[in-house]
Amino acid sequence: MNRSRLESLIREVADFPRPGIQFKDITPVLQDPEGFQFLVAEMSDQLKSFGKIEKLVAVESRGFILASALAVRNHLSLALVRKPGKLPWKHITESYELEYGQGELSMHVDAVRENEKLVIVDDLLATGGTLEASAKLCEKLGGEVIGLQVFIELSALGGRERLGAYSLSSLFKI
Ligand code: AMP
Repeated sequence: MNRSRLESLIREVADFPRPGIQFKDITPVLQDPEGFQFLVAEMSDQLKSFGKIEKLVAVESRGFILASALAVRNHLSLALVRKPGKLPWKHITESYELEYGQGELSMHVDAVRENEKLVIVDDLLATGGTLEASAKLCEKLGGEVIGLQVFIELSALGGRERLGAYSLSSLFKI
């Protein structure tokens, strides 16, 4: 496995979930044992550039898959950023703009400790709204966001610029 073979496993699906969206489907990577292994190893290497991480923060839904694998591999604990109506206990919520309308993300109030050094993980960066809202939640809980990490960065959508205050790493810029 190498970077270009891994990239070739990302499936482009036109007009999903809406006309005009080029959806990047990562399920072919997950279905390939070498591809999945290689992806986690590469993201794990990149994580080192953030310095001493105390916890990974996983963004629902595909971020859960990558962040879980990275957390186990690196002996880190995991906090969850969840979509509305999923968290059973006391939580805080952040609203953010979606392409059409508003989205909401939540975290349990005890998900993050004061001054804990966090890296937030998701599968893909588009406009940056999801990672920005996730970072705000972490900061409201007293955490320190020392990095953001994604598998795929859609460079044309300005997410990196929007998230300029944070250190951001991606495996592929498309
Ligand atoms: P954004 O908040 O605009 O950066 O969107 C990022 C979130 O939406 C991530 O959780 C992605 O999983 C999902 N997403 C946005 N655009 C795409 C796309 N073209 N293909 C796959 N997932 C996407």
